[in-house]
Amino acid sequence: MGVAKQLYQLQELDLEIESSEQALSQKSSQLGDRQVLDRVQAELAAKQQQLDELRRKQHSSEWEIDDLTAKIKTTEEQLYSGRISNPKELSGLQQEATMLKTRRDQLETQALELMEQADLAATGVATTSNELKQLEDDWHHQQQQLSTEIEQLNGKLSELKNKRNSMLAGLDPQAVTSYENIRKQKTQAVAKVEQGICQACRISLAFSALQQVKSDNLVQCSSCGRILFLP
Ligand SMILES: [Zn+2]
Repeated sequence: MGVAKQLYQLQELDLEIESSEQALSQKSSQLGDRQVLDRVQAELAAKQQQLDELRRKQHSSEWEIDDLTAKIKTTEEQLYSGRISNPKELSGLQQEATMLKTRRDQLETQALELMEQADLAATGVATTSNELKQLEDDWHHQQQQLSTEIEQLNGKLSELKNKRNSMLAGLDPQAVTSYENIRKQKTQAVAKVEQGICQACRISLAFSALQQVKSDNLVQCSSCGRILFLP
């Protein structure tokens, strides 16, 4: 086999190694990445906190209503007990009862609103909580899949690298050095020649260069510098 063909095969192997390494690094970066879960978890915590706050306000309104109801009862008992005959005192108590009832009405409206808000917030918490559970299930499944894929890629890469080593053993070291040097600047160091044209830079090769390629000599394209390979 001509050295150009060997280098072309080496290049195909190197490209496969490169793409496997890219896939490996991409998958490795996804492994253990909990960003989405953390975001939804924080969202849930914030919603839960809001709900707790609404419930706390709701209960505090309800306790205040109970207090007012007790006060109203005491005031009305005094008012209708018949023990108080002073009209000024009676009118004072009447006013007091009216004021307490007005305040209680306001609080009842407020407590009702708070209850509605809290119920709505509770629905939100439940929805987000279910969403998080589903995300966690998906995440665990995805992570397992990623681990498997990473394991497979590592296996594939070590196979490819072994193959590369045995390929190198059968290659002229000087040719490999040229190949490596070109590859430092270009993704592909070896270019195919078709109909006398370098397929990498599209230049027509000189007749002499073409003859050299045909004779299995190592020739670099005069334009792009790639090693030429005639399939
Ligand atoms: Zn070229």
